[in-house]
Amino acid sequence: MKISVVGTGYVGLVSGTCFAETGVSVECVDTNEQKIRLLNDGRIPIYEPGLEDIFKRNMKKGRLAFTTSLKDSLVDAEAVFIAVGTPPGEDGSADLQYVLNVARDVGRYISHYMVVVTKSTVPVGTSVKVKAVIREELQNRGEEIPFDVASNPEFLKEGSAVNDFLKPDRIIVGTESEEARKVMWRLYKPFLLNGHPIVFMDIISSEMTKYTANAMLATRISFMNDIANLCEIVGADVNMVRKGIGTDSRIGNKFIYPGTGYGGSCFPKDVQALIRTADAHGYSLDILKAVENLNYRQKTVLAAKLKKHFNNRVKGKKVALWGLAFKPKTDDMREAPSLAIIGQLLDAGVRITAYDPVAMDEGKRILGDKIKFANDEYEACIDADALIVVTEWSEFRTPNFKVLEKLMAGKTIFDGRNIYDPGEMAEMKFNYYSIGRKDITNENKDK
Ligand code: NAD
Repeated sequence: MKISVVGTGYVGLVSGTCFAETGVSVECVDTNEQKIRLLNDGRIPIYEPGLEDIFKRNMKKGRLAFTTSLKDSLVDAEAVFIAVGTPPGEDGSADLQYVLNVARDVGRYISHYMVVVTKSTVPVGTSVKVKAVIREELQNRGEEIPFDVASNPEFLKEGSAVNDFLKPDRIIVGTESEEARKVMWRLYKPFLLNGHPIVFMDIISSEMTKYTANAMLATRISFMNDIANLCEIVGADVNMVRKGIGTDSRIGNKFIYPGTGYGGSCFPKDVQALIRTADAHGYSLDILKAVENLNYRQKTVLAAKLKKHFNNRVKGKKVALWGLAFKPKTDDMREAPSLAIIGQLLDAGVRITAYDPVAMDEGKRILGDKIKFANDEYEACIDADALIVVTEWSEFRTPNFKVLEKLMAGKTIFDGRNIYDPGEMAEMKFNYYSIGRKDITNENKDK
């Protein structure tokens, strides 16, 4: 069986590689020539744990190939997966130009029956547009080649993408065609041995499922951030509240960790896009509007605490910042809270030295010389008036506080992920600010 996967980003590259792992012959296509050159050289342009091994193994076996030619990749393909980006357009709705460009090219080059699968996250109605564009191109060619469309949203998480793809909780497939259903079943059967289901449904419900999942998760995060802020006001400890509710089987313990606001390439844009879809249909998704507003606000909490601690005299202060990626185990900085926090601090005249275990190249690419970059977490703290922890990489969880105390000019930590214990911080006489818990302040405000 041969398939073509278009777009070699986090989703396309992981999907293509994992399909190859089951014995399918996969050709991945991207318009970015540099990326394809790198991949053909056996190098991976993104950081994703576990990807390199399986990528190299399948390249070696000849089951995984990379090209810039969609036309060539469609030869013998039984399905083509569209996994290109769907960034927010100017009004926040999903920008479909990349998806529809691929559909147009499929229409130009398709030469036999195949299933055209939309894996990108796309608003309801996109599959209809994909179908129409392919039909239009076929009409231009004066040919009648049969094809079917299917919606197959992806639920992998950056940082555990390979594992998520190989052992999915469920596979969602929207299609109206029995033939497409068979092709999708054959492709996904090897991933369902863990007993999790493939759920077939109509295309619109499938497209809605993806947005609903992300919107629900974003809602949980914003809800807990809101509760965390109230906990601080009333003197409760949000960590205790979280444990208290997380043990309720109706609620569960996932996605109820307060922090600096959600980021990444999916939640912000998907929440926005769903709001726009509803608006376009004359319906106001009020909960999601609140979720989005709360998230903007949450990204300002740490910088506000820092300014308050220094009585607004922050100009020229030196701050160490740990964690640039939007979450651990990825180098992705799209919509990362770190960027919002850095922006607010730079505006206030703060000097920043950052460190991230894997997102340094990405950080340098995005931020250039606006901030300094350190070689490790301790170097970032040299002469720093304060440390801000933005991403909860495991290596930040148990630092040597004695070394930090010696290196830093101040003795203040702003912990955006609640990874340190307030009791221990008090014992060590740090000023310690976290999210939704009591601030610990000592007499050493401006050491
Ligand atoms: P990405 O930006 O990392 O990669 C997109 C790739 O598509 C790029 O390499 C780009 O060069 C390529 N591309 C654009 N136009 C092309 C064309 N016409 N032909 C060939 N290649 C083209 O994107 P991503 O993070 O992999 O996301 C892809 C889609 O999957 C999005 O809709 C996203 O919302 C969705 N998604 C992402 C995640 C995630 O964690 N990143 C998870 C689930 C779903």
